[in-house]
Amino acid sequence: MSSQEIAKTGSQQGPSVANGAGEWLQCISCTSAYSVEMVRYHCDCGSLLTVARRQPWHERLTPEILLARQISSDPLDQSGVWSFREAIVSLPRQSIVTHPEGRTRLYSRSSLSAYAGVERLAFKHEGENPTGSFKDRGMTVAVSQAKHLGLKAVACASTGNTSASLAAYAAHAGMRAVVFLPAGKISTSKLAQALGYGAICLAVEGDFDAAMTLVQESADKLGLYLVNSLNPMRLEGQKTIIFELLMQRGFTVPDWIVVPAGNLGNTSAFGKALLEAHAAGWINRLPRLASIQASGANPFYLSYVDAFQSAHIVKAHTVATAIQIGAPVNYSKAKAVITATNGIVAQVSDAEIMRAKAAIDQSGIGCEPASAATLAGVQQLRQQGVIRPSDDVVCVLTGNMLKDPEAVLAAANNKVRPIAASLAAVEAALKS
Ligand SMILES: [Zn+2]
Repeated sequence: MSSQEIAKTGSQQGPSVANGAGEWLQCISCTSAYSVEMVRYHCDCGSLLTVARRQPWHERLTPEILLARQISSDPLDQSGVWSFREAIVSLPRQSIVTHPEGRTRLYSRSSLSAYAGVERLAFKHEGENPTGSFKDRGMTVAVSQAKHLGLKAVACASTGNTSASLAAYAAHAGMRAVVFLPAGKISTSKLAQALGYGAICLAVEGDFDAAMTLVQESADKLGLYLVNSLNPMRLEGQKTIIFELLMQRGFTVPDWIVVPAGNLGNTSAFGKALLEAHAAGWINRLPRLASIQASGANPFYLSYVDAFQSAHIVKAHTVATAIQIGAPVNYSKAKAVITATNGIVAQVSDAEIMRAKAAIDQSGIGCEPASAATLAGVQQLRQQGVIRPSDDVVCVLTGNMLKDPEAVLAAANNKVRPIAASLAAVEAALKS
């Protein structure tokens, strides 16, 4: 799909199935459209669906309105997702399940600028969301839609962060949550979150891609509402990472936005958000998107280097478990986004990821390994001359440091020092 075609989904008039509705589900490959009230993840032609809306939605969501919502006490305005509600989905207020979420900060650190060789380098920390990852942005929308449709059970396959988020929002909504996890492949803290919030946790033999296949089959046959990023509502929520970032910067466009790439939900959502922001007149140009994969889980990178002639599938293995995905479900959307934004796909090794993670941790910001792929990617692209020293670059950190304590402890050269309970032992330790 071309950039024009992506933009068109936001500008064409609604089809008959959605007569009178603000939004509808549009196939990304053919002209088919479906009511947004339907539980549906694919078009009859097999392609992915995206949420399209009538123009001129942006006339109801001007920068002035957005700024006024920053100081409003309305619970929806307090959310970094629902404050953009005219660009997300029209739901009755009583259906909205919000913690609230979003409103995450932007950080700059001279040590990290020096590490990457880029002076204007900022990090938007999505690990500051309620369950510690960006997933809350999409989950508030998907679970609100489930509540609106009267559904009682929601499900996802997850490398960990999605399950934690789903479990929290389902608990908030009073719904049953079922999470499909690749057995033995998620961090203790993510599993603890899902268990603690009360989800039914199923450890599936095999990898994430096996869990993803099983949850889709279970959704079809057992009536579970699927909230993986296949669900177009998730991506509508994730768009607000970009909307909020642009607002925080006074709608000044960076040269690059850099994102970790696994299932390609963020790459897809970021591109959609940028094209919508451009169509709305919030920004006058598009930044370039850089999607960074781990070299052990690099199917999108392989497609990029063969000019997107085919969708690759790999057996994924990386220390960055949040992006340990071999068959990304949002491939077609992400491919269109890279083309539309003159974007780039890069890969970084686990060693590069862990070195970058140590730098981010030691700057006092902290993140999980997958998030550090961004800094590693910027450093590599800078060394290759793709990113210039004068470029204005924003990295999106997707999960916080405590999401993967095992990785912190394994990587840190800062170890616990056992000492005797004496002042002399403290003195000796401080000297060593
Ligand atoms: Zn279709």
